[in-house]
Amino acid sequence: MEAEIVAIGTELLLGVTVDTNSAYLAQQLATVGVAVRRVTLVRDDLHEIVGVLRQAMDRSELVVCSGGLGPTGDDLTREAIAEATGRPLVFHQMLLDDIAARFAAFQRTMSESNRRQAYVPQDAFIIRNPRGTAPAFVAERAGRYVAALPGVPQELHYLTEHALLPYLREQHNLAEVLVVREVRVSGLTEAEAGERIADIMLGDNPVVGITAKRGQHTIRIAAQGPSKAAAEALITPLVATINERFVGFLMGEETLEQRVGRLLAERGIKLELVETEIAAPVYRALTQTAAGAQALVQVMIRPSQTNPESASREYAQALATAGNREPATARLAVVAEAGGEPIRNVHVALAAPNETPRYDTRGIDFGLAQAHDFVASTALELLRRWLEPMPSTTAEQH
Ligand code: AMP
Ligand code: MG
Repeated sequence: MEAEIVAIGTELLLGVTVDTNSAYLAQQLATVGVAVRRVTLVRDDLHEIVGVLRQAMDRSELVVCSGGLGPTGDDLTREAIAEATGRPLVFHQMLLDDIAARFAAFQRTMSESNRRQAYVPQDAFIIRNPRGTAPAFVAERAGRYVAALPGVPQELHYLTEHALLPYLREQHNLAEVLVVREVRVSGLTEAEAGERIADIMLGDNPVVGITAKRGQHTIRIAAQGPSKAAAEALITPLVATINERFVGFLMGEETLEQRVGRLLAERGIKLELVETEIAAPVYRALTQTAAGAQALVQVMIRPSQTNPESASREYAQALATAGNREPATARLAVVAEAGGEPIRNVHVALAAPNETPRYDTRGIDFGLAQAHDFVASTALELLRRWLEPMPSTTAEQH
């Protein structure tokens, strides 16, 4: 089954509220084999909502709406769905009783306007809401289904899991299951990673895609089949192919932080860390796992005193190699070039006992918050390459 999501609310178009409901709904619908083909954001305007709903119903069997079910005049989803499905709104005493009971339970007085929430389109499948005042429903017209869920995320989550998904499974005999598997790769650019699997990204079942995130890439394999086992059987050979093509770069289902933490623990290596950023992005990344945190024996923040690139590189190398270290202790130095925002380059140096120091650098040209993620992934990637040397049959083959 194919679906569209319509997220309703002027606040979403003003950017005041981030539309998290659509992402959540897309993930949940996938678990019952419903593939989301389009997401539309629309403001609280009856005419516009009706227009969006009509178009969505022309294309897709299922339309799931979020928001606009409140008691106030700007909440127009009920009216819009009634109009788009050609079903008049019908008052349900049961729903008003639910709303009244909820107000009574919280010792508050129900307003006259709450009465609006007890109306749903004629013949709709009604979903009572134990988490809020707005009931949800699924209306139908000519084999097209339009579901309405309240915008408050906790209510929407609850009603999706407890009512909408069971309704879809039972009433629509959803036989297909969608399984999504993710594998992470590190140490390649998104383009390089994409080129290695360009051929398998062309298929439509499984659908293979890459998401770039903070210098780490996730390859997503989504397969649809009559059962979980059948979908997984489609995924398994692709994972094997990906394993072959990303030798030395593949982290499986681990994040870079988890991988580095695990490798440090397995090899019993302790780490001293020197950073120039007061926000300590590498410290924060390493301490995301208990193993990473336990490997850290010392953390120092040294303000960046340098500006030109070459001086920063030397500074990173000097910080990594300076002084005495305990045996089996490596020192990682992370120098973000001075000069304020945006950071220009990050220099990472790693000095391990009895080894030539390692060094890497990366140019960064966007805002500080994201830059921190890149600083962290550059440093962790250098660590990973040291902890996990590439097999001699390197990944150059593909
Ligand atoms: P509504 O059902 O339109 O009255 O929405 C109630 C509240 O839910 C809004 O004030 C928002 O804070 C929140 N909300 C509405 N739509 C969304 C959405 N798409 N994603 C996240 N939160 C939302
Ligand atoms: Mg609203």
